[in-house]
Amino acid sequence: MSAETPAAEAVASRLERQEEDIRWLWAEVQRLRDEQLNAPYSCQAEGPCLTREVAQLRAENRDLRHRLCRLRLCLAEELSRQATLESAELAGAQEAGAQRPSSQSQDEDMKNKKMKESEPDSEVVKQPIFIKERLKLFEILKKDHQLLLSIYGKKEDTSNIITVRVADGQTVQGEVWKTTPYQVAAEISQELAESTVIAKVNGELWDLDRPLEGNSSLELLTFDNEEAQAVYWHSSAHILGEAMELYYGGHLCYGPPIENGFYYDMFIEDRAVSSTELSALENMCKAIIKEKQPFERLEVNKEILLEMFKYNKFKCRILNEKVDTATTTVYRCGPLIDLCKGPHVRHTGKIKTIKIFKNSSTYWEGNPEMETLQRIYGISFPDNKMMRTWEKFQEEAKNRDHRKIGKEQELFFFHDLSPGSCFFLPRGAFIYNTLTDFIREEYHKRDFMEVLSPNMYNSKLWEASGHWQHYSENMFTFEIEKDTFALKPMNCPGHCLMFAHRPRSWREMPMRFADFGVLHRNELSGTLSGLTRVRRFQQDDAHIFCTVEQIEEEIKGCLQFLQSVYSTFGFSFQLNLSTRPENFLGEIEMWNEAEKQLQNSLMEFGEPWKMNPGDGAFYGPKIDIKIKDAIGRYHQCATIQLDFQLPIRFNLTYVSKDGDDKKRPVIIHRAILGSVERMIAILSENYGGKWPFWLSPRQVMVIPVGPTCEKYALQVSSEFFEEGFMADVDLDHNCTLNKKIRNAQLAQYNFILVVGEKEKINNAVNVRTRDNKIHGEILVTSAIDKLKNLKKSRTLIAEEDF
Ligand SMILES: [Zn+2]
Ligand SMILES: [Zn+2]
Repeated sequence: MSAETPAAEAVASRLERQEEDIRWLWAEVQRLRDEQLNAPYSCQAEGPCLTREVAQLRAENRDLRHRLCRLRLCLAEELSRQATLESAELAGAQEAGAQRPSSQSQDEDMKNKKMKESEPDSEVVKQPIFIKERLKLFEILKKDHQLLLSIYGKKEDTSNIITVRVADGQTVQGEVWKTTPYQVAAEISQELAESTVIAKVNGELWDLDRPLEGNSSLELLTFDNEEAQAVYWHSSAHILGEAMELYYGGHLCYGPPIENGFYYDMFIEDRAVSSTELSALENMCKAIIKEKQPFERLEVNKEILLEMFKYNKFKCRILNEKVDTATTTVYRCGPLIDLCKGPHVRHTGKIKTIKIFKNSSTYWEGNPEMETLQRIYGISFPDNKMMRTWEKFQEEAKNRDHRKIGKEQELFFFHDLSPGSCFFLPRGAFIYNTLTDFIREEYHKRDFMEVLSPNMYNSKLWEASGHWQHYSENMFTFEIEKDTFALKPMNCPGHCLMFAHRPRSWREMPMRFADFGVLHRNELSGTLSGLTRVRRFQQDDAHIFCTVEQIEEEIKGCLQFLQSVYSTFGFSFQLNLSTRPENFLGEIEMWNEAEKQLQNSLMEFGEPWKMNPGDGAFYGPKIDIKIKDAIGRYHQCATIQLDFQLPIRFNLTYVSKDGDDKKRPVIIHRAILGSVERMIAILSENYGGKWPFWLSPRQVMVIPVGPTCEKYALQVSSEFFEEGFMADVDLDHNCTLNKKIRNAQLAQYNFILVVGEKEKINNAVNVRTRDNKIHGEILVTSAIDKLKNLKKSRTLIAEEDF
């Protein structure tokens, strides 16, 4: 090994002196602090006390720490430049048969050797240089951190005992800056410690190995907890990121947990990920898991992080645009160091089973004007059984995918010439109209009045409603005769104009305007997905204009309305009340009154509900409703949202009973299906294409036994058609009777009516169902009556009830 350059030596010796300075300064800070603590006047502003002297010292200290880090950076750079030079020199020597250089630490060297042994030389992935440099810097920073911690720890020699209150009621003693949640858990039981995914300390998620900083309340969360699941999948994303860096050498972007699993986005120059590479990545992830790499947390100055991630413009963007504090945290697992707030599982070995199953391409922050990124998806679980359940579920979901059903049953399609806007074919349109007819019927029963309103408005309307300021990027806008117009993304502002059209009286309230108007939202083309994310859609949207006193009754009505619709579909649902957020607008008395009424309505409604404190919109509290589908997935479709602001923005008033003509109405935004498009997707998947009779686009198939009965079959079919049923007849001569029945069943015709000579004579049909339940011969007129009743009742089991 050649000697270090004089420059590096000089820097190193300066560093030593700086370290000495820091030690001294810390000691000084501690001394002053102790003195101050015993002084009669101590303020609580920053830390335990703050005199000018300490503040000055602190500032100096921060500067020094910063300078120290900068110096170390220089040193690291210097050393790595030298190492590169050396290895270049040695590369020549190696070719000539000399031994490999050992410029790295011993165990790194061992690892490299192992890799070399286990893989053929040609396939060894060339580790990107930035990985090594990043790691070097991390080690330096870690040493600093430990130094500071040890000084801090030494000073805290008197009052270092803390009390930890565990969620189950136990109390455990610990040491400040030393005792970790994991240790507390292990003291209770080793099993608990091992099954805990993440801790929650004083309500904040906390790494299991992160020392406690004072008296704490402690929760130990296992995988069945939603927050723990997110941590588990988030940690798994790091493992995937580590593998992706090693495999592709690209630049990592975001790697969040999602509802089911996680993904990581990566920028790779001139290359896309191929799905054939996923199993190799999965194997790399498994190897990383086997190594049980710890997740190490480090708080670092933002400027140093900009240096650490200078090779990756995306991480720099995150630092510059998203981090507004002086320091933030990075986490290390194996060679990966990632900008991350944490927390994580203790080590990669906590991930018991992992699957890398999907890839796609996307854009930086979803914006098609920005860089194209490669996204890779994965999922992980703490045991194999859960993974098998998930795999089965995936299979089931794939078979039920509404895009697949839409194609097979010829319900709808999309075309490149109008992305995100669906073409509903006749049978799809039948479902669409049947749904809206259903809601119309309910409107009629519940005193909602249907209105029709424009699709495009002058931007002045959107300025008045506030959409222009907050929502314009989601709107399609265009010029008409020098004025800017936009397609409506929602109906409410239009309905406000309708309310304001003439003076209103208390006698007219509540006014319930319902509107199936076509809405447009400018979703990014990359995010469009079947019927679940579209640009053009309709809603079963209504706005209730009512007095403050009427809120309770109206909300109750909304809840009963949605219950009757959802139970017809066979959905169970969950209710959440979201109350006043911190950034609320309006008078607090109004909020309190409205929230009280919402609670009353929920209580009287009688179904279980939960409270989401502070989760309401700034303009009013709301009830969130999630429906549960046949395979256990939750979807949010309905909303019941109170709005105190829109009436103010549009200066809506009514004349009250006692003659006050400046009374403000409250608006309730509500929808039950939500987007009809999306509801069709959910219903397709919920029923797996086996539509209930009333909603079915294929209700009746008439099949003649032979050619002599064809005319009769046609006659029967048209009788059903005239009565409003989706009826067809199969006159294919190339098919046997049994084959025809089978085909009709596979096409999900609810009822199959076979007609032969006997039926022809009796004016009857022979009825069987798609599940091959045979109901036998029945008069055509009786069959029509029965089916009419089944349709009217909207039963889910018409085939049984026939
Ligand atoms: Zn993380
Ligand atoms: Zn609305």
